Amino acid sequence: MATERIDKILSNMGYGSRKEIKEKIKAKSVTVDGDLVKDPGLKVDTETQTLVIEGEEVVYRKYIYLLMNKPKGVVSATFDNHDQTVIDLLPFDYQAFSPAPVGRLDKDTVGLLLLTNDGELNHKLLSPKNHVDKVYYAYLRDEAKEEDVEAFRRGVLLADGYKCLPAGLVIGEEDRREVWVTLREGKFHQVKRMFHARDNDVTYLQRISFGSLKLDENLDEGEFRELTEAELEGLR
Ligand code: URA
Repeated sequence: MATERIDKILSNMGYGSRKEIKEKIKAKSVTVDGDLVKDPGLKVDTETQTLVIEGEEVVYRKYIYLLMNKPKGVVSATFDNHDQTVIDLLPFDYQAFSPAPVGRLDKDTVGLLLLTNDGELNHKLLSPKNHVDKVYYAYLRDEAKEEDVEAFRRGVLLADGYKCLPAGLVIGEEDRREVWVTLREGKFHQVKRMFHARDNDVTYLQRISFGSLKLDENLDEGEFRELTEAELEGLR
């Protein structure tokens, strides 16, 4: 049984602030199992009871799963003192679920970012044991070389002494500055540091997949949508 104050439930679901919910309750527009609610502190079991607000039945959801095409200039955090965060890009009714990004993309990296308030799935997807493949499209300062492919396959040694896990590198046929990198881990600035270690530089970085999840080409940068059931199943 999961009981919670009715004003908190409705506010978390984006029906307004706690104060606004209180007013709606006062205005006799909230019922539980057909009974008019008078007390904003009334405890409700969201699994078994039916809530109606202003004639609309509340479809209670605990978790949300969002696929965002992260734009440049925005940080992958839930809060930041200086920069706009990916959470700031969401409308209030999604922010109310308190989602967090699954892993991080650098401020200047664009592309696929998963956001959820499902802490268990978040943790599972980031666990080193799980080896979720991430694919990045990168544009480089200099052309990539065949030796880079072999170095990535063996595991690049970063400047700080860390030896990366074997990674995939595919070089563009028409433009050798275009590359696709597949990583099984997610260290800080990893793709950039791997190319630094190869005397090269990344000038553009976009994540195009995360496990079975692909970047949706219908999403412009800064846009998001909910995961489909099939996409969610693919991650579990
Ligand atoms: N590697 C990087 O260097 N930056 C990212 O944002 C992701 C992977």
